[in-house]
Amino acid sequence: MSAVYDVIVVGGGPAGLEAAKTAAMNGLRVALLERKTDPAKIQRSCAQMFLMNMDSFYNERMYFAPNKGKWVFPVNNFTVDYNGPYRDFYACHFISPNAEDRIEIGDYEKNASGHGTAAVVFDKGVLLGGLFSEGERAGVDFFLERNVVSASRENGGVSVKTAEGDHLRGTFCIAADGINSRLAQVSGLNRERRFINTRKSISHYVTGISFDRSEAIFLGMSWDRGGLGPVPFCLLPSVYRDDEYWLFVSGDEQFRFLTRESSFRHWFPDLEITHTRVNVVNNWSPAREPFKENILFVGDSCWFSEAENSGALLSGHRAACAVSEALHRGLPDRNGVEGYISWWRQNWTETHDYRDFLCYPLFNRMFNEEEYNYLHGLVKATLPWTLNPFKLYDRIMRGLQPHMQQVGRERPALAKKIGMFRPELVLDLIKPAARMGFPNR
Ligand SMILES: Cc1cc2nc3c(=O)[nH]c(=O)nc-3n(C[C@H](O)[C@H](O)[C@H](O)COP(=O)(O)OP(=O)(O)OC[C@H]3O[C@@H](n4cnc5c(N)ncnc54)[C@H](O)[C@@H]3O)c2cc1C
Repeated sequence: MSAVYDVIVVGGGPAGLEAAKTAAMNGLRVALLERKTDPAKIQRSCAQMFLMNMDSFYNERMYFAPNKGKWVFPVNNFTVDYNGPYRDFYACHFISPNAEDRIEIGDYEKNASGHGTAAVVFDKGVLLGGLFSEGERAGVDFFLERNVVSASRENGGVSVKTAEGDHLRGTFCIAADGINSRLAQVSGLNRERRFINTRKSISHYVTGISFDRSEAIFLGMSWDRGGLGPVPFCLLPSVYRDDEYWLFVSGDEQFRFLTRESSFRHWFPDLEITHTRVNVVNNWSPAREPFKENILFVGDSCWFSEAENSGALLSGHRAACAVSEALHRGLPDRNGVEGYISWWRQNWTETHDYRDFLCYPLFNRMFNEEEYNYLHGLVKATLPWTLNPFKLYDRIMRGLQPHMQQVGRERPALAKKIGMFRPELVLDLIKPAARMGFPNR
């Protein structure tokens, strides 16, 4: 098959579906190619959280308008339909291996009593299904069960080919094919990026658990004094059932240790797994710019680790608007979409340094079990809310800073260790940390 489109979108995750819908609503001829049978069926791990407008991410402050059934992006001036369930949560707690001492970010009690929603979990399948239907109504040509193998410059536009034998031609292409983007690889975008690491994620949805102040996200560390050593985990409410939680832990042995043997085991009295999701990601440093030979890159495809669903929606929307404007102005090239490129630079690479994202997990790797318990026991003040992964290390340090003189007196070696950690040096710490089981989230 050979066809001509204004824009060909590759990938039907949040970035691609939002891009295709927006471009079609702007009157463009749009094709979207997706390898799955059903774009709304979620296979890869995702905690399905949105940070609310108490926190800024990509210089946006999104919120949910329940009466309208819409996620609102006020700074970028657009909305996304959503008619599914959601569940508020109120704080983020770092919990030490004794399962008692915690550093608290966000005021759980105040937020839970109606003073603010720190974040929500939502049903990503419903979100994607809604975007897919909107795209269909707007006239997007969907090609499902298509594995795109190449996108290359041809006659001033882009030629896109699939393993199934399709050959589509478009003026622009939007690469929304996720974290292991094939288009970033074949277009040469990755040649300008630094390969960081490969990470595997396994997440289980679980029931039969019981603990206090459960409507929060817990970034916990348990400790196996036997073979496993540190066992980090992440636990937060699930949107699917009130009694269900999302539990991320790096492997089966770690899961068994955490839920059966660690100090946290009493949190899991009647544990059952309802379902499991996995994924493997290759992390590259962010692209220099999200553009190569009439391909605009959006979402995870050109970013470090994860754009998050909010970043995916934002960039998909902005890229589609840029393409629409470029075609309207008769500038079907880089000049036409310069607005997207500079918006991305300003709000992504110039606002968030990917090395800050790495600081929290790597800083975590510096301590032993006893030091962990000691440090978590020191910080009594509730710290200002954030769940922005680029700010987590900063928050921990804000909590520890007032106690550093005491740490210096009581544990000079530990104070020295903390003082030696430098965000600008994190890339040098990745290999040693990987040998110790570098945590995923
Ligand atoms: C463990 C974990 C937890 C997370 N938790 C959260 C969270 O709580 N909140 C949050 O906002 N984000 C979270 N994220 C990140 C979030 O899931 C992603 O940032 C987001 O899905 C990126 O959207 P995207 O559209 O760029 O890519 P994706 O969602 O990955 O979509 C890419 C699409 O492209 C398709 N595709 C890929 N290659 C091809 C090809 N060659 N041909 C055709 N189709 C192709 C894929 O099938 C897929 O549908 C998490 C990620 C992980 C790993």
